[in-house]
Amino acid sequence: MLIIRDLQGIKQYIKDQKKKIHSIGFVPTMGALHEGHLSLCRQSLLENQCTIGSIFVNPIQFNNPKDLEQYPRTEDSDLNLLKSTGCNAVFIPSVKEIYPEPAVIKFNFGHLETVMEGKHRPGHFSGVAVVVSKFFNIIEPDKAYFGSKDFQQVAIIKQLVKDLNFPVNIVECPTIREEDGLAMSSRNLRLSSEKRKLAPHIYEALKFGSTSLKMNDVAGTKEKIEQYLQKIPEISLEYFEIADAETLLPVVDVKDHKKIVLCIAAYLDGVRLIDNMLLFY
Ligand code: AMP
Repeated sequence: MLIIRDLQGIKQYIKDQKKKIHSIGFVPTMGALHEGHLSLCRQSLLENQCTIGSIFVNPIQFNNPKDLEQYPRTEDSDLNLLKSTGCNAVFIPSVKEIYPEPAVIKFNFGHLETVMEGKHRPGHFSGVAVVVSKFFNIIEPDKAYFGSKDFQQVAIIKQLVKDLNFPVNIVECPTIREEDGLAMSSRNLRLSSEKRKLAPHIYEALKFGSTSLKMNDVAGTKEKIEQYLQKIPEISLEYFEIADAETLLPVVDVKDHKKIVLCIAAYLDGVRLIDNMLLFY
């Protein structure tokens, strides 16, 4: 597996690949890799002749400087894991390489970012869209792989590709979970072993929500979820939303929708965790 850290190197690699092959798959990550990330790489390897991963902790998508500072960085193990999948190359640029000067451009995704992650993390999706646009321009992938774990992010990326005509197919891959149901996340590494035991309650709350929706209305279900999580004082709920899976706008009556997504964000041990569950009606 080739490790490339500079723009000139990655551009030359892409140029050489494009002479030989006709499909490049791209898997952008912020490192601290786990099975969730590797599942994206494996999917890309199945569908493309060349798979390129990236590891870049993008400073401009962090609305909380402490979160950026504490974001886990585990490059040696990341490289071993990526290599084990058969990934062809990994791009690991420095912040200076990607932002020789601060980016001035800002994205506004309208209604898509007025809710949930967009509402609670101002500027986050603009930062995501800037770095993903840069990577799409640098790597020119045919397909790019994103996880449903970040449900709203996938919607934002699809909108970005549509609005700016990026010639990239976005492939959405399912959320990979630990055995106890906790969605895999780089941030899980920051949980103490004591608090880690409580983390599955976040997924349990989603499952409880989906059952509750069969018997209760939206408002009743939201109330039940709040009550469920209040019983675990270590978990502090930021939001629990029941949204239309296409528009991401809040659902009032489930009967008016075909595809619904339950989304949750909560703090545990000072770590912000998110998860979601898709429901079909
Ligand atoms: P991150 O490194 O957190 O920016 O994630 C990089 C990519 O991996 C994003 O497309 C995420 O949605 C995806 N991802 C993160 N966790 C998981 C997971 N548990 N299952 C599937 N994909 C994931």
